[in-house]
Amino acid sequence: MTVPDRTVSSGLYQRVCLSETQLEFPGLPYSVSVLKPGFCLPQSDGTFRADGTITLLTGPRTVLVDTGGPWDRDFLLQSLGDRGMGPGDINVVVGTHGHSDHVGNLNLFPSALMIVGHDVSEGDRYRPNRLAEGHAFIIDEHVSVHPSPGHTGQDVSVQVRGTSAGTVLIAGDLFESSSDDNTWRNLSLNPAVQEVSRQNALQAANIIIPGHGLPFRVVRN
Ligand SMILES: [Zn+2]
Repeated sequence: MTVPDRTVSSGLYQRVCLSETQLEFPGLPYSVSVLKPGFCLPQSDGTFRADGTITLLTGPRTVLVDTGGPWDRDFLLQSLGDRGMGPGDINVVVGTHGHSDHVGNLNLFPSALMIVGHDVSEGDRYRPNRLAEGHAFIIDEHVSVHPSPGHTGQDVSVQVRGTSAGTVLIAGDLFESSSDDNTWRNLSLNPAVQEVSRQNALQAANIIIPGHGLPFRVVRN
């Protein structure tokens, strides 16, 4: 199934959903690959089926952003294997927030630098950092982790500069999808705080990879 480009316009920005085939954003030194776009599907019995987006950055460091739910373990291993990688090749794992559909496979990566919300650790050693005070955690000059609270109190987003599509922001559940205007507040711990985080993201990024949908392009009106 191919989803045609859809445009959501609100105020200063338009969000243009990309097609299901646009999951790779090559660049130097970092390329961004969406291994699995997340989804959220309400079911007739009142439950909903959901999974978080899984994204891989390759470049000077290899960075995995969100690991999907525990049910994604085999998919994740296979997907890394298809790229000639194993879990030991991942240098950094970022969990955008602590929900089960985003951080279900952390234990595949015990030797990676682990950034989950505001926690930064290597093995059992936790590093002081200033994410809680609103400061970015810099991985290198191209990749940085930014506090983007609202959905939970400790969400972070990963910014990648210098791809062929410009600046890419892997946003976790800061954005559910390209067209989440009627849904994100229901899932937010603090909508007023999240609104500010969303506006900051729309200002900074050319491409946003949301937590439960396909990547979208940000067009300034
Ligand atoms: Zn969540």
